[in-house]
Amino acid sequence: MGVTVSFVDCSNLKGLEAAITPETKLVWLETPTNPTLSVIDIQGCADIVHKHKDVLLAVDNTFMSAYFQRPLALGADICMYSATKYMNGHSDVVMGLVSVNCDKLYERLKFLQNALGAIPSPFDCYLCNRGLKTLPLRMKQHFHSGLAVAMFLEKDPRVDKVVFPGLPSHPQYELTKRQCTGVPGMITFYIKGNLEHAKIFLKSLKVFALAESLGGYESLAEHPAIMTHASVPEEDRVLLKISDSLVRLSVGLEDTEDLIGDVDQALRAAHPGFENPTKVEDLLEHLKFNC
Ligand SMILES: *Cc1c(COP(=O)(O)O)cnc(C)c1O
Repeated sequence: MGVTVSFVDCSNLKGLEAAITPETKLVWLETPTNPTLSVIDIQGCADIVHKHKDVLLAVDNTFMSAYFQRPLALGADICMYSATKYMNGHSDVVMGLVSVNCDKLYERLKFLQNALGAIPSPFDCYLCNRGLKTLPLRMKQHFHSGLAVAMFLEKDPRVDKVVFPGLPSHPQYELTKRQCTGVPGMITFYIKGNLEHAKIFLKSLKVFALAESLGGYESLAEHPAIMTHASVPEEDRVLLKISDSLVRLSVGLEDTEDLIGDVDQALRAAHPGFENPTKVEDLLEHLKFNC
C-alpha cells in the first residue's frame, strides 16, 4: 500500500522528534512495550507529534486496558485495543477496537469499517460487552497478584532480573505512577541460566498454561524468543533484550498464593538446591495494606 515505516525507541523523546519527516502521517506506539515492558511517556510524545500539523498519534493500549490508562486524555488521537486480551478478559473472543476524540477521524474510520466489512459478530459483541462489566474488578486482581508474583521473583536467587512497571526498581516507575492508575498482570523476567533453564521452568508450571496471548482470567506463560517474537530477526532480538532466558507471564485471576507456589516449584525444577527466602504469608499480608 506504499506505506513505509521506521522504528524508533519512543522512550527517547529526542529520537522520536528526529525521526519525524515531512512524509510522516502517523506515530504509532505501545506502552508498556511487549515483551520488555518499557513505559513510554504518552503526553511527551503527543507534545512532539502535535508540533507537526496533520501527524496523528496512535497508542496501542492493549496491555493497560481502559481501566488503568487513558491515552486520549493524555493527548493521543487514536487509542487502539486488542479486545481479545484484558477488555474481553475471558479468552473466548478475537476482537479489536479503536477510540478517537475527533468526529472527522471517527467518520473516516466508520466509513472504512462499513466499506471493508471488518466487523465483529453479534455474539462476539455480546461476549465482549459482558466481559467489560467486570473490567475494574479483574484489573484490580491482576494488579494485586501481578505485584505479589513480581515481588516474589525480585527476591529470587534463581532469577537474574524482573521487569514489572509496578515495582520501584522499574526504570519508569515514577512515569508509570503519573500516567497510569495501576498496572496489569504482565511480568517479564530473566531466569538465571540459559534456554534449557527457561524450558524446564515452562514445562514444570502447573497453574500457568504454556500459551501465547494474555490478559485472560487464566494465567499464561510463554517464551517470546521461541513463540510470540520468533519472527523478529535475531539481531533485533539482541537489541531489544529478548534473550533466551526471558520469560513472559500473564498473571490471571487464580488464587495469589497458588500462583506464587507454582512459580516457586517450577523454578525449583529448573534450579534444584536454591530457595527463595521470601515468606509468602508476610508478602501477602504486606500487600493487603499496600495495593
Ligand atoms: C495481541 C495483541 C495485538 C493483536 O491483537 P489480536 O486481537 O490478537 O489480533 C496487538 N497489540 C497488542 C499489544 C497485543 O497484545
